[in-house]
Amino acid sequence: MRALASARQLAWEAAERLENAGVPEPVASAEVLLAELLGVRRSELAFYPESLTREQAALYEAWVSRRLEREPVQRILGYAYFRNLRLDLDEHALIPRPDTESVVDAALEVVDRGGGFSRVLDVGTGSGVIAVSIAQERPSCEVHATDQSEGALRIARRNAARAGTKVQFHRADLARGLDVLEGCVDLLVSNPPYVRSADIPKLTPEVRDWDPRAALDGGPDGLGFYRRIFAEAGPLLADGADVVLEVGDGQAEDVLELGRRAGYAPLGTRVDLTGTPRSGLLRSGTRR
Ligand code: GLN
Repeated sequence: MRALASARQLAWEAAERLENAGVPEPVASAEVLLAELLGVRRSELAFYPESLTREQAALYEAWVSRRLEREPVQRILGYAYFRNLRLDLDEHALIPRPDTESVVDAALEVVDRGGGFSRVLDVGTGSGVIAVSIAQERPSCEVHATDQSEGALRIARRNAARAGTKVQFHRADLARGLDVLEGCVDLLVSNPPYVRSADIPKLTPEVRDWDPRAALDGGPDGLGFYRRIFAEAGPLLADGADVVLEVGDGQAEDVLELGRRAGYAPLGTRVDLTGTPRSGLLRSGTRR
């Protein structure tokens, strides 16, 4: 029977297996899973002083096997890091993406420009990622969030509570039936599903097989939810309310144009960390 291996050795062997199986980011996958399992930073793995216990080694082996099946690291762990937060996840919610951190920045910029108090509505909140981030980073805001999935709302509520925030969650199909907020929303923010239906089979297995389809599928041209937001959100918005929408690659101009045709003033775009336009900013007109 083989001696118990060091953390470094185990991670190295796992990375090699992942790489040979063609799994993306094999080293990061192997190291992050082991660091989280041991409760240390990834940079500390090389110095982890003890051998793993048999239980730890068995759990790590189970996690690596799941990663070999292309299950994303965050789903194996059951949580994801995003800005200052650790957000729980389950099968009802999209894994929070680094891209979306830039959408939160765009929303905070709008909040700060408005003087720091805004009534914010996050439409289709999923794990609660945008709403909870705004509530945590700008506690002066009153933050509301919707999702049509009760499962997503359950996890989002838990994430809001763990972060010590008071987000008000509403079960709603987009923004329908939110009469309590009529004319009150200063800032509408959303990361709607925006993948073209026909492109879904081409997504990486990590996304295609593990993110909820309802959180990805933006219809035939990927823009269906933007049309709906522009058409349906109006009654909820205060005069001159801001709208910040995450957009898919290459969609920014189309989304601004859809908004313009629906009576919103396009204000511009903001890029993500890779320099790709990731948010579209618009302002609603005075209500008729
Ligand atoms: N960014 C996701 C992807 O990787 C899509 C998320 C969305 O549709 N809002 O495809």
